Amino acid sequence: MMVASLSGCRPQKSLSERTAQIHNRVLTVDTHIDWPIKQFLNPDFDPSVRHTPEQFDGGQWDLIRMQEGGLDAVFMSIFTPQKKRTKQGHAQAQEIALKQIELTKKMVADNSDTAAIALTPEDAYRLEKTGKRAIFMGMENGYPIARDLNNVKLFFDWGIRYITITHSKNNELGDSSTDQQPEWGGLSPFGFEVVQEMNRLGIMVDISHVHDETFWDIIKLTKAPVIASHSSARALQNVPRNLSDEMLQAIAKNGGVVQVCLLDDFIKEMEQTPEREAALKQLKEESSAWSNGKLNPEAVKKLQAKYQEINAKYPKNRPNLTEAIDHVDHLVQVMGIEHVGIGSDFDGGGGLVGIEDVSQMPNITTELLARGYTEDEIRQLWGGNLMRVFNEVILVATQLQKSSQANKPTKVTVNF
Ligand SMILES: [Zn+2]
Repeated sequence: MMVASLSGCRPQKSLSERTAQIHNRVLTVDTHIDWPIKQFLNPDFDPSVRHTPEQFDGGQWDLIRMQEGGLDAVFMSIFTPQKKRTKQGHAQAQEIALKQIELTKKMVADNSDTAAIALTPEDAYRLEKTGKRAIFMGMENGYPIARDLNNVKLFFDWGIRYITITHSKNNELGDSSTDQQPEWGGLSPFGFEVVQEMNRLGIMVDISHVHDETFWDIIKLTKAPVIASHSSARALQNVPRNLSDEMLQAIAKNGGVVQVCLLDDFIKEMEQTPEREAALKQLKEESSAWSNGKLNPEAVKKLQAKYQEINAKYPKNRPNLTEAIDHVDHLVQVMGIEHVGIGSDFDGGGGLVGIEDVSQMPNITTELLARGYTEDEIRQLWGGNLMRVFNEVILVATQLQKSSQANKPTKVTVNF
């Protein structure tokens, strides 16, 4: 419907028209999609075919829906579930991470007419002009770095451009926000070296998932702005995975960016039906019986199918998109518009009423417009801020590498 302007002569564009225009004009980036681990568990999924979230293993991302949703760039999360922190556990984690990197590169190679690997902000802006989807890679969980600093460079060379220092458990790098108790009191001594190496190489330091003490250690130590690839506001939903206003202010001061996570538990506490709770409890008991503590691909499939069955029968009561945009508003209020973005966590638990997959990304833009955000502000939120931080991280790395060259002792040759 066309809405007449106050002056009465020029009709204003509808919200959906303005949304479509903005998606055509601005670079849109989602910094956290867990497709690679999903693909690792089900290699038969074809990302060049359109799926729906209701379909079994349909997931929330494929190239068709990405295009439909006017989403230009994603960071595929190379996620390793944490197992034992032994030599063998670390070797397995590296193998799983590398396999996901290979799967992501293969997916791009198989779809080279519509997608390309991106390594820098310039790549994303260049690809956007050609209409190709930019596929970046970030690594969720520093667990595969094990205890070897050389691995940071190795992952950089394989294309990783951010590393989430921890996942849900403490690792060799530092303490997680959700482990039973802190082990290092923040970053470990090795974690300090890893952050410095990431600064030196130009890998963004991702503070999503880290313990508050780890966060403060990183903020004090880092020479470059940090990112939270998928975290929301603790003031609106008080969970350890979200960030307090004090932390948000510190990130703004550091020049970094927080990408609001579209995962229900981080947005709003919702009451669930007793039937659903009981069914989930039973599934948990049953699945630990089949898997004997180890989930092989067959057991994962069975678990997914049962979970989907429960969701169909007793749907989860979830918050809606507007409640996620309340987090955007809060972050903007506390940090300023320059420090906020979007990291959906699709295929990793993300998804709310009104935003079920990447094809629905325009709903975010429409809601932002309805709240009075201007096109320029939306450009910042949708990727401008993240790319500014990414450029800054690269600049800091260049400077650090230059100064270490300059400080290298010059070889003195004495001729007798
Ligand atoms: Zn995560």
